[in-house]
Amino acid sequence: MDAANRASALSTYAVEAAGCVRCPLSETRTQVVFGSGNPDANLMFVGEAPGFHEDQGGLPFAGQAGELLGRLLEGIGFDEGDVYLANVLKCRPPQNRDPLETEITACEPHLFRQIELVRPLVVATLGNFATKLLSGRSFGITRVHGQEQPLELGGTNVLLYPLYHPAAALYTPSMLQALEDDFSRLPGLLGRETSLPQHSPPLFVPQPEHREPVDDAKLAESPAEAAVAAGAAQLGLF
Ligand code: URA
Repeated sequence: MDAANRASALSTYAVEAAGCVRCPLSETRTQVVFGSGNPDANLMFVGEAPGFHEDQGGLPFAGQAGELLGRLLEGIGFDEGDVYLANVLKCRPPQNRDPLETEITACEPHLFRQIELVRPLVVATLGNFATKLLSGRSFGITRVHGQEQPLELGGTNVLLYPLYHPAAALYTPSMLQALEDDFSRLPGLLGRETSLPQHSPPLFVPQPEHREPVDDAKLAESPAEAAVAAGAAQLGLF
């Protein structure tokens, strides 16, 4: 199937998925958050699940995590037209709780169909849920971030590239540094020359009053990471 036909099939599939009732999240969501971006992108990001802003607006990565993702992309000379964005879950879990195993199982055919139709070269998984689902392994993100792995997903040969979740990196400087370092390898993994902007934009510094309603501590994998996130909360940083 050529790129135009794949893009058209993806749009048709998004319309079908908008009425999805595969799991009880269909009863609490405002709308299905299917995906966004270039349907022929070489680089696809897979996050965890829609949050408040995504559920309201219908597009993934609409809040602070998305803003950081945009800055990281700018930092390597990419923009949103270069990527496709999706999540493991297409519907917001109430209070942004962790996805349940049953929800992931019900929802995963949507993600695999997206990968099949977009046919990215690199699938960058953001955080533990996407990484564990797509790698089929239980290794956590702290152990595997920045380590690419060739895989077949949705009938497509891709390079899986696990990254820290930007929502977790927002409040943990060491994770942000690791995320930036891992991002810097993306152009090379895509076989693309780095064309860094002359002045890299400063990374997003969150303002407390604009805090996205996500439980960032839950995105931390280890007790140490959770403590950093929880500590930041106690200090009133978010
Ligand atoms: N927004 C998304 O769309 N996905 C996430 O994982 C976090 C924020």
